[in-house]
Amino acid sequence: MENKCKICGNAENNEELVVKENQFGTGKKFTYFKCADCGCLQITDFPKEMSQYYPNDKYYSYNMKTKKNAKIKKIIKTFLRYCYFHNFIPKNFRYFKVFPFLKAFEGLRITASSAILDVGCGSGSLLKQMTYCGYKNLTGIDPFNDKDIVTNDFSIFKTDICNYQPDKKFDVVMFNHSFEHIAEQHETLAAAHNLLTDTGYLIIRIPVCDCFAYRKYGVNWRAWDAPRHFFLHSTNSIAGLTKKHNFILVKQFCDSSEGQFTESEDIEKYAFRYQHTLLSKKRSKLLHQQAEILNEMYDGDTACFILKKQ
Ligand SMILES: [Zn+2]
Repeated sequence: MENKCKICGNAENNEELVVKENQFGTGKKFTYFKCADCGCLQITDFPKEMSQYYPNDKYYSYNMKTKKNAKIKKIIKTFLRYCYFHNFIPKNFRYFKVFPFLKAFEGLRITASSAILDVGCGSGSLLKQMTYCGYKNLTGIDPFNDKDIVTNDFSIFKTDICNYQPDKKFDVVMFNHSFEHIAEQHETLAAAHNLLTDTGYLIIRIPVCDCFAYRKYGVNWRAWDAPRHFFLHSTNSIAGLTKKHNFILVKQFCDSSEGQFTESEDIEKYAFRYQHTLLSKKRSKLLHQQAEILNEMYDGDTACFILKKQ
């Protein structure tokens, strides 16, 4: 069967790769290919019954446990949130070190009452963080949750974006490491376009394959996460796809971490992504610095794209 790119349609010279499941360490093999034209890596056949690969008791997005010192962290975050909205500390303070999502919001017209939709939000850990920061108009959707979740601060509906029909438009539609899990790439962007106000923002945070870590680790690169990640876009393929659905790029940046080295090396050594080989403080700092350098060079393995309607 020909491997036709589901992003750009190219069917020639697409190279096949075999990638193993490594998050749960099952080692099950899946075939992917790399589009010779747009550079997007993609799974050849979508597995049936994907819910078996998202067990709610194991998959990290659905299983955010309260960690040690959670209370202290919450107090610090509440304090910083207060400072953020009352300008006690200049806005150029690196708040995004504590609240990474704020880096994407920098310079955009987003207020505490902006209507924000988090697509593929899992159990809502990011929505909780955003609540701490004062955002008040939050909604999530995720088809792999057991049921709808309604809290005092936000609601999460069990649905995918293509079947979501709210009675309002959103100022922000964001995909925080969920877009790569979605088979219907074109339909999803068309749905996002339809859900946005005319001045709204589309924010897509995804792994990107035109990066140092993919060149270095190949099929052991940590971001494959087979078979859950259907698409590992290149900067070129996401640009082509979003343009086709009438979005224009506002800004982009890389936000990769030292995990691109440590997790990929764990997969190389143990065929398991979360072995967490113990690192000395010195090496951890060095890898963190290397990740920052790659981000500066647009060569980190994760990126954030902020777009608007054309
Ligand atoms: Zn392609």
